[in-house]
Amino acid sequence: MKRICVFMGSSPGARPVYAEAARDLGRLLVERGLELVYGGSKTGLMGEAADTVLAAGGSVHGVMPRALVNAGIAHEGLTATHVTENMHERKALMSDLSDGFIALPGGIGTLEELFEIFTWSQLGFHGKPLALLNVDGYYDGLTTFLSHAVEERFLKQAHKDALILEKDARTILDAFAVYKPQVEAKWIDRKQA
Ligand code: AMP
Repeated sequence: MKRICVFMGSSPGARPVYAEAARDLGRLLVERGLELVYGGSKTGLMGEAADTVLAAGGSVHGVMPRALVNAGIAHEGLTATHVTENMHERKALMSDLSDGFIALPGGIGTLEELFEIFTWSQLGFHGKPLALLNVDGYYDGLTTFLSHAVEERFLKQAHKDALILEKDARTILDAFAVYKPQVEAKWIDRKQA
């Protein structure tokens, strides 16, 4: 495992605990020799995580559509910035560059990215591990809802289980290090679907 994609808020959130979690994850990635892939912004939790990885001597890949780069919100000190033509290409490239995915707290942008990669896992487009870092109970409501979706048989338990739910980033990276795709399947080429 070489690169971890982190989805997270472009806002800092209401309480310092969220930025602390972003910085803690950044430090942990560097300690474990992992590179950060993220959306390339300098704002909010995104900026906190990127700055922390860079300050600790790690590598950061930002992936941003041209329109957002032109809007002036790109972090300018990254190891590499990959500029895409649109948001769809951006998510596809973030996925292709990464060996695993973690969602920190965030808003609808974070949820959209998380759910796209979660759906791709359900469809067998990738066999990479995916986790929700539940900082201070931020995602409690979402995890309750996913259990409800299983009870109501709109989501298979095995597919829900593909999303690791954890409070501790260390436990997530430990799980990633020994991750084996749960379904024995030929992975479908996403680009053909
Ligand atoms: P949100 O959770 O709504 O703040 O959106 C954050 C996620 O959506 C990030 O992981 C980014 O990839 C993308 N995103 C949303 N807003 C921005 C922004 N201002 N700059 C860069 N990426 C953004």
